[in-house]
Amino acid sequence: MNITGISGEKMEIAYELIKYILVVALGGGISLSLAIYAFLKLSNAPGGKYFVLATASSAVFTLAYAFELASTTLEEIKFWLKIEYIALPFLPLFILLMCFDYVGQRVKREVKNTLFAIAALTVFMQTTNDFHHFYYTTVGLKEDSPFAIADLVGGPWFYVHSLFLYGCIGASMAILFKQIKNKVFQFRMQVLLMMAGVLVPVIASFFYLSGVSPHGIDLGPVFMSVSFILHGIALLPLQMFNVAPIARDTIFESMEEGAIVLNRDNIIVDYNKASLKVLPVLQNRAIGKRIGEVLSGSRLLERIILREQKCDYELYINEELLHFQIRFSPVRNKNDILVGKIVTFVNVTERVEMERALKQLASIDGLTQVFNRTCFLEKAEEAFGRLSHQGGLASVIMFDIDHFKRVNDTYGHATGDTVLTYIAQSAKESLQETDILGRYGGEEFVICLPNTSMEAAQEVADDFRKQISESYLLIDGKRIDLTLSFGVSEVQIEAGDFSNSIQAVMGEADQALYLAKEKGRNRVELFKNRLCSFEKA
Ligand code: GH3
Ligand code: MG
Ligand code: MG
Repeated sequence: MNITGISGEKMEIAYELIKYILVVALGGGISLSLAIYAFLKLSNAPGGKYFVLATASSAVFTLAYAFELASTTLEEIKFWLKIEYIALPFLPLFILLMCFDYVGQRVKREVKNTLFAIAALTVFMQTTNDFHHFYYTTVGLKEDSPFAIADLVGGPWFYVHSLFLYGCIGASMAILFKQIKNKVFQFRMQVLLMMAGVLVPVIASFFYLSGVSPHGIDLGPVFMSVSFILHGIALLPLQMFNVAPIARDTIFESMEEGAIVLNRDNIIVDYNKASLKVLPVLQNRAIGKRIGEVLSGSRLLERIILREQKCDYELYINEELLHFQIRFSPVRNKNDILVGKIVTFVNVTERVEMERALKQLASIDGLTQVFNRTCFLEKAEEAFGRLSHQGGLASVIMFDIDHFKRVNDTYGHATGDTVLTYIAQSAKESLQETDILGRYGGEEFVICLPNTSMEAAQEVADDFRKQISESYLLIDGKRIDLTLSFGVSEVQIEAGDFSNSIQAVMGEADQALYLAKEKGRNRVELFKNRLCSFEKA
């Protein structure tokens, strides 16, 4: 061998080593980039948090391994090994937890703690190996390698660690495999990608263990970065907006409205805290599941969301009836392609209650608390409408307080008001729920009695007449005697005949009432010649 030949060989060896170091460093760089990318964009995807931790650990491990390869002394190698082992024992655990999270399965706290304890113990065993040789029985340099490559012989804890590693990988595969079989799971392709991601470094490590790897250099870390690329692709469809977590938290989480983000296949990709109030079922690991699957308890809501019907929706929350308006906004990507929708639940309870109160105010007579004329007519027309479908009877009673002017003149207007309220409330109490009572004006009231004949209505009226005339009111110690006059009429509604108007029947009842007044008051008169009067009790 001549001198140039030796130096040429050394150069070649040096180049080869640099090549490996660069490849490993590149793997570390990929893991690090993935960790940063995932931290910014995938943290909210199921499994995203552990993906960040796994890629970050992989980056630490792989970059430290590049430095180990570049080391020239055993001491340097041992230093970088320790750095590698800060991250390495946790890697399979993060992958396992990522898989659990990905498929939406919860891990018991005790199990999680135990697994973390084993990984932490491995870190401890490796870093303190010089004192007990429990992790490596011997630590030296490979004699047959042209580079300074560590020759490590595993001790008992090394095998515990290996078992732990393959155990975690095996469990990860099993969890993912179960999802593949699960037909409702919509992410079969993604799960396959996740599985491939878990398997790649395992296959690589077999190459390493079988001695095929070049000069005993472990290229596993490089394959790891490949596997994380596969995991990243699997997680991407579950990511939400392309926004940094800060924006997501400040905008999305601080929204008062509940918001759920669905992708094009109606799979939940995100939801905010406020939406948990409306739909507590979301808490059960809903991300990645179809909205229909999550809302299986409420077919109506499912239909509303799938059909994108903007509407109001009532919900009992803590025994309180709340009203939500459900709105839909499309989500488009940068290329303007529809990628999903945001469903927002706006609490409109206050508005609905206000509207109800206003409607009540507009329909109820302020003094007597019975329907005012407009509302009475509306309700009575509705009742007539209902009767028109199958045909039936209805009666109308009109009544008026006798000589009410005198009450006002004698006791004052305020007392008059009290009397009016008393009469209205008494009338209400003597009626059935289906009967409709209204204040027609002044001291005149009207009652619509569906499915009631004129004779039956006459009886109702006369009972009430007697009740009022046989009792008296005591206001401010003054006795007030009251009597009422009534007019009753009836209408026979034929099935399918929608032409009957309440106004016409009221007109007839009013004529009968006029007759009652003429005939001396405190009596009930029926419309037309079917006269039947009830004399003073
Ligand atoms: P009749 O037996 O013929 O019905 O005699 P009346 O005095 O009851 O009839 P009239 O129509 O002459 O008088 C009705 C009175 O009712 C006149 C009006 O001042 C009074 N009135 C109408 N609305 C109210 C009210 O809201 N409060 C009070 N206190 N009085 C009212
Ligand atoms: Mg009167
Ligand atoms: Mg009157």
